[in-house]
Amino acid sequence: MRPRSEAPAIELRAITRSYGRGAATVHALRGMDLVLPRGGFTAVMGPSGSGKSTFLQCAAGLDRPTSGEVLLGGEAISHLREDRLTELRRSRIGFVFQSFNLLPSLTVAQNVLLPQRLAGGRQDRRLAQELLTQVGLPEHGDRRPGQLSGGQQQRVAIARALITRPEVVFADEPTGALDTRTAQEVLGLLRRAVDSMGATVVMVTHDPVAASHADRVLFLADGVLAGELRHPDPQSVAAHMAALAAPARHFAGAAA
Ligand code: ADP
Repeated sequence: MRPRSEAPAIELRAITRSYGRGAATVHALRGMDLVLPRGGFTAVMGPSGSGKSTFLQCAAGLDRPTSGEVLLGGEAISHLREDRLTELRRSRIGFVFQSFNLLPSLTVAQNVLLPQRLAGGRQDRRLAQELLTQVGLPEHGDRRPGQLSGGQQQRVAIARALITRPEVVFADEPTGALDTRTAQEVLGLLRRAVDSMGATVVMVTHDPVAASHADRVLFLADGVLAGELRHPDPQSVAAHMAALAAPARHFAGAAA
């Protein structure tokens, strides 16, 4: 593994992100300060339109904040040139998407190795095989993604996200396209990547059960951090979400 500083995996300092201009300006993030320590599993939740995608895009260097700074492993990334940012995303950040995003024409092993290939480094076939074994697909390296189930494809995507030993893995609704049982397996794998491989995972999800696999759940509302739960369970996460979605009713209920 590359030598690492003691800096947090990701740090957000006073991040804002606005779209549009003048009266039509939308303030998607209104000032977020956040420290994500290494080796943690963080879930991000919030009502639709609360800024989850914008947060993920800014934190992962896919989008630039309007103001504020994102630090990856202590390095400020928001003002890097596009080519440097692309290089950094390829080598230091892993991605897992709802729709798997595997390349159908490549084998499973080639898909796992793709980030290394794109980063222009050595392709470590032994590590790819080791990761495929860890995600429960030791015999599947020569198959094509189309020959695998959705759950198996997501396992491959997790192996691919880990191949560069990234400082952080961003997972965007990784269980959104999976049935409940398969979703549990995929969440178990993300949990294991954190617990046994030292990965740092940040997952955006709508699902309180999925979020309960994390160490910490962050709640966004209207572009700001609106709460946090440590050691979450599905019931407490769902209760927090319900309160965010209907604050007026919640408070009316509390006052009654
Ligand atoms: P979430 O992921 O929680 O649904 P988003 O980050 O997608 O929230 O959106 C936050 C706010 O920013 C919403 O009001 C949304 O309409 C707005 N928004 C997001 N992307 C754009 C864009 N490209 N142009 C204009 N407004 C946007």
